[in-house]
Amino acid sequence: MIDFNVPPYVGTEMKYVEEAAAVNHKICGDGPFTHRCNEWLEKRTKTAKALLTTSCTHATELAALLSEIKEGDEVIMPSYTFVSTADAFVLRGAVPVFVDIRPDTMNIDETKIEKAVTERTRAIVPVHYAGVSCEMDTIMKIAETCHLTVIEDAAQGILSTYKGRALGTIGDFGCFSFHETKNYSMGEGGALLIRDKKNVERAEIIREKGTNRAKFFRGQIDKYTWVDAGSSYLPGDMNAAYLMAQLDAADEIFEDRMRSWNLYYELLKPLADEGKIVLPYIPENCTHNAHMFYVKAKDLEERSALLSFLKENGIQSVFHYIPLHSAPAGEKFGRFHGEDVYTTKESERLARLPMFYGLKEEQVRYIAEKVLEFYR
Ligand SMILES: *Cc1c(COP(=O)(O)O)cnc(C)c1O
Repeated sequence: MIDFNVPPYVGTEMKYVEEAAAVNHKICGDGPFTHRCNEWLEKRTKTAKALLTTSCTHATELAALLSEIKEGDEVIMPSYTFVSTADAFVLRGAVPVFVDIRPDTMNIDETKIEKAVTERTRAIVPVHYAGVSCEMDTIMKIAETCHLTVIEDAAQGILSTYKGRALGTIGDFGCFSFHETKNYSMGEGGALLIRDKKNVERAEIIREKGTNRAKFFRGQIDKYTWVDAGSSYLPGDMNAAYLMAQLDAADEIFEDRMRSWNLYYELLKPLADEGKIVLPYIPENCTHNAHMFYVKAKDLEERSALLSFLKENGIQSVFHYIPLHSAPAGEKFGRFHGEDVYTTKESERLARLPMFYGLKEEQVRYIAEKVLEFYR
């Protein structure tokens, strides 16, 4: 069986974890490894500030708190996304307003956002599906005109770019995930990226239980105290150590995934040219990170048959999100603005092929061969 996902593991992780415990004697949050991860992220993405968090879900919650999202506010997002994108705002009493996606990138359709804005709208949450950027210039322009905060769900988008800028750094806030299914992992984990320096201090406070402990550790104040409402969004330093090992090997992981992605594309291109399947589309001015490789079948029925065929041949291929607006909680907390032209239809066509660090060339060839065989 070829697994759909194998968590990234480069081999140096346990050495780093041991260093955290036995050398640094620091295993709680904000130890040396957390600082190294933050600095690495800041340097690579060129953002003002990166803060490691316990998950991307928590990074988004932190962004919702920083954006002062309140009861009854509306937040615009795609319905084709993971539950966390909506949860973070629903927890604040806000209403997720779902906007249709573009069929080419599976990202929110930027041309349909403005019509969904009401006087209650406070934020837009673009989700960079498969690590491929949303049309950020248009989104940022709408946000500016309508005075909205932009929180990028860049859970899948680490090291991808839009017009040369790292995803997660364009909006006011960006959220990364280091879950085991993502390109770089610490088991459960994430990061909040903060574009403007003015938001950093409050972020540090909310992340540290509402205290000014970060300032205290920097020696800027004599003792720390409770200054705001907050929670605990910082991961232990052993988890950060685990992640740091992978960030130190980030380029190797990136290139390994990209080799698999490009080979899939090359082998399946003839089938796409015949009009049998649709392959991922990378818009001009965007670079991606080989987070995911998917194919789109004709419809739900053909997709189901394809997944079964691959399973019979020892390949674990999976579909993705059930659109949030059709889930029980989505019906309860949110609403869809406009017509669902593509969200449901396109989500039903999509099949994700195995993609992970260490996937072998012969495995990619075998999987592609089976997809070709299915259509023959
Ligand atoms: C993985 C993912 C999340 C959640 O990340 P966690 O770190 O597990 O909280 C949120 N949004 C998207 C689009 C994701 O792919």
